[in-house]
Amino acid sequence: MTRPTVLLLGGTGEARRLAALLARERPDLRVVTSLAGRVARPALPEGEVRIGGFGGPAGLADWVRRERAGAVLDVTHPFAARMSTSAATACAEVGVPLLAVRRPGWTARPGDDWRRVPSLEAAAATVEGLGERVFLSTGRQSVAAFAVLDRHWFLVRSVDPPQPPLPRRLVVVLDRGPFTVDGERDLLSRHDIEVLVTKDSGGTMTAAKLDAARQLGLPVVVVDRPSLPATDTVERVELVLPWLAARLGHR
Ligand code: NAP
Repeated sequence: MTRPTVLLLGGTGEARRLAALLARERPDLRVVTSLAGRVARPALPEGEVRIGGFGGPAGLADWVRRERAGAVLDVTHPFAARMSTSAATACAEVGVPLLAVRRPGWTARPGDDWRRVPSLEAAAATVEGLGERVFLSTGRQSVAAFAVLDRHWFLVRSVDPPQPPLPRRLVVVLDRGPFTVDGERDLLSRHDIEVLVTKDSGGTMTAAKLDAARQLGLPVVVVDRPSLPATDTVERVELVLPWLAARLGHR
């Protein structure tokens, strides 16, 4: 008997954890993780992997039909709004159940000095008045939004190097999480950082910089999440198991 196929839209630490969990708990399923193919050397999950865009919602719907997928799991980053929207459209068209795994956003704690903004452009405008030395931890695709600030100095941390347009004064550190609070405090101090910019990614992998900023009394510009389609959603990967059992049966 062929195993039912589950498409797992990935590119996050949770997606890798979920792939490992499903390999262990549901060997009766064929789980295919999909990656966008943005980073040169992606951290690969356990199990089958496909790489590259589908070609919009129509291409994704074709893939789901062709592979006879019985369910789709959207475990992309909370800022990957195009992929999530495409998944919602394609699954509705084909009539395949879709579950999103979305970690909660971060909330400010006593001692935090956060400015919430709706976009990267608003973040660039807000940074202007807060300090000259900026730590940008928003990912390499976000750096272009800060290219207009030529009086500022930027420390950019990303998995792969950012592409132009870039700010005039910048240093790039290539690294990927998880990070520690001590390591983050050291990085911020060593570069005399005056303001930190982050997306509201949520989760624990990259939260240490927020603790470090609080300890050093630095302001943080937090970019709010984009709006995402309303779909069935859970906050933790473990909750995918009962959802799958209800739709595809037990082992
Ligand atoms: P996006 O803007 O929502 O997606 C742009 C296009 O990339 C999508 O329309 C899709 O192309 C393709 N794509 C995205 N995720 C895909 C996946 N898992 N499998 C196959 N194709 C995918 O996404 P993004 O913000 O560029 O993020 C790309 C990937 O990096 C995502 O998988 C995400 O989980 C991961 N990531 C993103 C961030 C972030 O801050 N945005 C941070 C960490 C990791 P087609 O329309 O051709 O299908």
